Amino acid sequence: QANERESMYLVSEYASKHYIETLWNSQLGKAIGLSYFKERGFTDETIKKFALGYNLDQWDAFTKSALEDGYKLEYLSKTGLTIVKDQAEGETRKFDRFKGRVMFPIHSMSGRVLGFGGRILSNDKKAAKYLNSPESDIYHKSKVLYGIYYAKQAIAKEDNCFLVEGYTDVIQMNQRGIENVVASSGTALTPEQIRLINRLTKNITVLFDGDAAGLRASLRGIDLILEQGMNVKVCSFPEGEDPDSFAKNNAYEDVVLYLEENAKDFIQFKTSLLAKEAANDPIKRADTVRDIVNSIAKIPDRIQKEIYIQECAKIMQISEEVLYNTLAQIDKKEA
Ligand code: ATP
Ligand code: MN
Ligand code: MN
Ligand code: MN
Repeated sequence: QANERESMYLVSEYASKHYIETLWNSQLGKAIGLSYFKERGFTDETIKKFALGYNLDQWDAFTKSALEDGYKLEYLSKTGLTIVKDQAEGETRKFDRFKGRVMFPIHSMSGRVLGFGGRILSNDKKAAKYLNSPESDIYHKSKVLYGIYYAKQAIAKEDNCFLVEGYTDVIQMNQRGIENVVASSGTALTPEQIRLINRLTKNITVLFDGDAAGLRASLRGIDLILEQGMNVKVCSFPEGEDPDSFAKNNAYEDVVLYLEENAKDFIQFKTSLLAKEAANDPIKRADTVRDIVNSIAKIPDRIQKEIYIQECAKIMQISEEVLYNTLAQIDKKEA
């Protein structure tokens, strides 16, 4: 229903304004939220550009304000910004989903607020570091990329898109002058997310946090990018660094140089990485070969496929003939 969704958009827009207002104009907002962002190295300009905000650490700071301003509880609840719990004796309790968190609004390609990510400020291990809006009629996690609204022009202009893990990576890279950046925000990459980028460029560079934890899982997601006929490069950062910290601690020229020197063709990167891991174990090497041919099978372009088969044969020291046979088997299975 169009009307219902429109009401949800209006509530989300109101919430975004409320969190911004709290960040800049309340005592606690300034003392806690704003100083948190400044400590992370964000300038006023950046904080404003990305519409960052703060919600007070109270039960219903946002909900109360929204109801007073005439927004209906129904839509506060449907966007997930207010949690409504039915109590005994027909009573309902209404409270804010996000409490005492700095707020990152998530915008659509056209700049509408769809949902939020909220980060805790303490390093309290009990609470989730980031909390996100729930799925709703206007917020579909699998179809959204954080930062796409700010990045779309630069992606088209540079004819390349950097894909990072988190909100702060997008923001810090932007502040450093690299604007063609979007984040999957902790979810596994989906075909819909890739299609958003594919409309703007055929080239993606995936930037991994230097923690290696997610690296293997991320490698799977990248096959989805190959499947859409896009050119994929990957780049990792030094141990313990992510694009946020790297962009924060290095000058624009040095970040650009690092990316240029360390972005590697995805198939070559994956082949070398897995080959190194398998070392001289024959079974592992066989699994590695199958894994890589599986990735190559996703590439629609025949010529590219052929070139990658040659590369893989060289790195794995295996005959091209065997690789082509494996490829044919995969194609037959998929057909
Ligand atoms: P920060 O620099 O603020 O600590 P980050 O962006 O480096 O955060 P990562 O731990 O690298 O955080 O996670 C990448 C992304 O995954 C986050 O930006 C967020 O979108 C998502 N994420 C991380 N932790 C959680 C969590 N506990 N619950 C939900 N999403 C999370
Ligand atoms: Mn990470
Ligand atoms: Mn990170
Ligand atoms: Mn980080």
